[in-house]
Amino acid sequence: MTAFRRPPADILADIEALRAADAPTHGGRVLSYVYDAGLPQLDALAADAARLVQPVNGLDPTTFTSVAAMESSVVGFARRVFHGEDEPGADGPGVDGADRHGTAEGGGVVVGSVTSGGTESCLLAVKTARDVWREARLGTPRTPRIVAPTTVHAAFHKAAHYFGLALDLVPVDPETGAPSVAAIEERLGDDVALVVLSAPSYPFASLDPIADVAAITGPRAIALHVDACIGGFALAFWPHDLPAWDLAVPGVTSLSADLHKYGYAPKGVSVLLTRGRDRQRHQYFATTEWPGYPVVNATMAGSRPAGPLAAAWAIIEALGEPGFAELTARAARATTALRDVVGGIDGLRVVGAPTGPLLAVATDDEVPPDRRVDPHHWADAARAAGWHLQLQPGLQQSDGTRLPHTTHLTVTPVTEAALPELAPALVAAADAVRGVPRVDGAEVLAAMAAQLPGGAAALAAASDGLDSDAAAALLGAFGLLGGSGAGDADAGGADAGDALPDRLAPVLALVEALPAPLTERLLVELLARVVEPRPFRPE
Ligand SMILES: *Cc1c(COP(=O)(O)O)cnc(C)c1O
Repeated sequence: MTAFRRPPADILADIEALRAADAPTHGGRVLSYVYDAGLPQLDALAADAARLVQPVNGLDPTTFTSVAAMESSVVGFARRVFHGEDEPGADGPGVDGADRHGTAEGGGVVVGSVTSGGTESCLLAVKTARDVWREARLGTPRTPRIVAPTTVHAAFHKAAHYFGLALDLVPVDPETGAPSVAAIEERLGDDVALVVLSAPSYPFASLDPIADVAAITGPRAIALHVDACIGGFALAFWPHDLPAWDLAVPGVTSLSADLHKYGYAPKGVSVLLTRGRDRQRHQYFATTEWPGYPVVNATMAGSRPAGPLAAAWAIIEALGEPGFAELTARAARATTALRDVVGGIDGLRVVGAPTGPLLAVATDDEVPPDRRVDPHHWADAARAAGWHLQLQPGLQQSDGTRLPHTTHLTVTPVTEAALPELAPALVAAADAVRGVPRVDGAEVLAAMAAQLPGGAAALAAASDGLDSDAAAALLGAFGLLGGSGAGDADAGGADAGDALPDRLAPVLALVEALPAPLTERLLVELLARVVEPRPFRPE
């Protein structure tokens, strides 16, 4: 047997030491990214399930039949809880022969796939819609369009970019985060391959007007995707009445929901449901035109892990619908409690009418400036006390209105147990920063530009494009990258610990003040430098 270079216990101890520097994944101190059911037995079951299928390759479910069995069962659960079993068109309009894709009034059986995550589900929904659109317009030179509210998840920006569609963003009401149905209707045309709505949106937790929009896209045979990536598996068990938002709505042609969010599975598992087998077959890629094995992929990967799928399957088997309902009820109670806490803090307000276990918090501009609380200073103060809230930038919409900068909270079942500590911490954080004006991005920018060798002119020139060393130098000047900022791997590589400064409010202010392409280039550099290769020492 090949001797190990190091004892396994040492190697695992190294990982544990690295993990100690991570944000805590359990206990409710991080209110984004992680979804803690608060049930260690459930995490243990998921880990055991994943381990049992560790060597399996999900690439070929005919060779590894366990993958097919678990995938069809997980998709079956999702189809049931999102009301896709009912075949709304079965005895209604739209199930004639002309409706092969299940497009128009919503006919067609609901089928689906397990993907690696929400982004992949969204990417595939867009690719499928594009290919259905193209097939119906063979030879068209036109660029297909996606119509969606500005609050649509960035995964759809990515999908438009990857698959060559134009993303037509419809402004939402800056007070509530809600889009208007009339504004969406105005954008519809023959070049629209897909309308996307969220249930709810990530930035403001607004539940988009799904039934009203479906009533105008359906008759025009325009596909409608419901992005329920974050909220889906919570809304399906929500303890309060909601307007119809899922596959019960005729005209919804696809729906995405992440099992690695409110399905409590480890990262790497989501479902994409699609109405109409023929529509869904456009999701697949197949080729026999190479000398290797015939390739048939439902999703973007080739070889696929089965671990996250097995974990999700095991969790569904363990919890069943009553278990999901119980966990959702905890998250819902905690969300109501947090809304009350924030509502009671002078100078802050909850944005709009959030639906589901998440919310955004903005400054209450109705009170005098000395009583206002800036949500980013608030988040920084909370972080200093060990509570991680997520800062969201403000955004200028195409109609000139401005969406406020906010702080996002994702609420999980474990938040309920954390409330006795969390609620006073949120109040204390607000007290600590009340009256402190928000960071002025233009001022920060001017101060930084003054320090640059070329001054403001250097910054303006930077907007025209930077190579990686120039980008790193700029990050260094902004204090966002350790070392010289411009050099080789050793000097310029950021330690993960260097990546984030203590206070994020000035960083977000910069994000808003800099032109988006420059910010994006700088952030690419920052993230790339964090994983700059370290020298591997053979002995
Ligand atoms: C999280 C999320 C996504 C993307 O999912 P990932 O799993 O992070 O790839 C898409 N849409 C919404 C609304 C989300 O919250």
